Amino acid sequence: MTKYVFVTGGVVSSLGKGITAASLGRLLRSRGLRVVNQKLDPYINVDPGTMNPFQHGEVFVTDDGGETDLDLGHYERFTGEALRRGSNVTAGSIYLSVIQKERRGDYLGDTVQVIPHITNEIKSRIRKLGGEEIDVVITEVGGTVGDIESLPFLEAIRQFGNDVGRSEVQYVHVTLVPFIASSDELKTKPTQHSVAELRSHGIHPDVIVVRSDRAIDDNVRRKISLFCDVAPKAVIAAPDADDIYEVPLVLNRGGLDAVICERLGLTTGPADLSKWEEMVKKTRSATEKVSIGIVGKYVDLPDAYLSVVESLRHAAAALGRQLDLRWVPSEEMTGLLAASYLEGIDGIVVPGGFGSRGVEGKIAAIRYARENGVPFLGLCLGLQCAVIEIARAELGYADANSTEFDPTTSHPVIDLMESQHGVADMGGTMRLGRYPAKLDEGSKVRSLYGQEVVYERHRHRWEVNNRYRRDLESVGVRLSGLSPDDNLVEFIELIDHPFFVATQAHPEFQSRPDVPHPLFVGLVRAAIQRPAPSDAEIDVEQLTRE
Ligand code: GLN
Repeated sequence: MTKYVFVTGGVVSSLGKGITAASLGRLLRSRGLRVVNQKLDPYINVDPGTMNPFQHGEVFVTDDGGETDLDLGHYERFTGEALRRGSNVTAGSIYLSVIQKERRGDYLGDTVQVIPHITNEIKSRIRKLGGEEIDVVITEVGGTVGDIESLPFLEAIRQFGNDVGRSEVQYVHVTLVPFIASSDELKTKPTQHSVAELRSHGIHPDVIVVRSDRAIDDNVRRKISLFCDVAPKAVIAAPDADDIYEVPLVLNRGGLDAVICERLGLTTGPADLSKWEEMVKKTRSATEKVSIGIVGKYVDLPDAYLSVVESLRHAAAALGRQLDLRWVPSEEMTGLLAASYLEGIDGIVVPGGFGSRGVEGKIAAIRYARENGVPFLGLCLGLQCAVIEIARAELGYADANSTEFDPTTSHPVIDLMESQHGVADMGGTMRLGRYPAKLDEGSKVRSLYGQEVVYERHRHRWEVNNRYRRDLESVGVRLSGLSPDDNLVEFIELIDHPFFVATQAHPEFQSRPDVPHPLFVGLVRAAIQRPAPSDAEIDVEQLTRE
């Protein structure tokens, strides 16, 4: 029977509750258990799809096209499991379905209330993830205990324990123990208050994960155990780690998975973390750097490109390098300025995006990469900008553009599918989720993936306009990946360039720390191999002397 672990947070937000839930997923998986992670988000948006990445960070896309909270990205990267949209539940989606049921008359005239209607809906979303094939569902409750918005969720998970039996459920509370410099002490009071608050909602935590900026001693542990009424071995220290991927190892050393398995009656061997440990060690020992620039408009909120950054880190670590990430603000960068922003950077990524802001800067960056042989990887909008750049510079279509940015362009090289075919086959709506592509024999992407058919996740409306395919090919663009029906351009690359590859998809959603994504490995490898500009100068000098 499926067991359930609930992860709540207290004291402050941004404690790393998501990383804790993801790490627990990794640990249980490493014990051979079948695990699924879930996030309950207290906000009223129905899904994060329409939320501003400036405020909320990236929208993570699942195989089945769910537009979800970025914590799902952590879950997937840590556990290696592809999740489905049911792994992200927002308050908005709960209310929406309750109200729809009410409108349909499903409640037969009952007064519809938070308890039981909203709480029942929440519980059914949690239960839906369990089943024959799943040993443990790990559900993280977003927000902090004490938030108004979190109340129905806390009530639902409290009831859940009674519904399935208290022995089938573990409540894990993540808190902060701050260090107060003036008294040279770690303070447990905020944790005590936060647990008291949780208990006032009827939830008695079984395990407390203690975040701190340094190791906690036995005294602190005893105090928390005593005041919060949890066993000393269930007070798990989680001091700051240098790297998020170390957190599973830290929590394992602290005994988190052991205590949870014991309490839930899950008999397994110890977690086999040897491969994970190796990966972490490799990341830590890398000293030589490789610099990659991300050209985007959300550079002030790096979480907006979280999966891209993680993918680059995975690839760099696998190649024994430390990632030297450079944020390049696309809005400030116009044509002539590109060189000054990009000089000395080993490789360039142009990630996805919506709207025209910063697009010209991205195009300028791509021109710089193309003309100077700098390794380039374009992701979704990055591919579209590459096509626009090439159409303008190589085909002489001066006003070439996407109809997203210029609906009246005389060369709509990127366009909506419906206007290409006169039929609304995409309905102007987003292409979301996992789609296959066939890769061209002998192309760079084919050799990187080592496979003919690959599956990547999508989130976009516009496509390469098929009317321009032949034009593009005539100037050295290889359409190296197409949809199985040949109708959509999925990958492009330049034949005459060390590494100029772009995809209409978002490969960043499938990179894992222990299984880096081939496109990112390709980019970073090319960036490492790129001769430093100073070397090139020396070569030129030598040549002139000879
Ligand atoms: N705005 C572009 C489109 O909708 C690209 C989207 C993206 O980069 N995810 O097609």
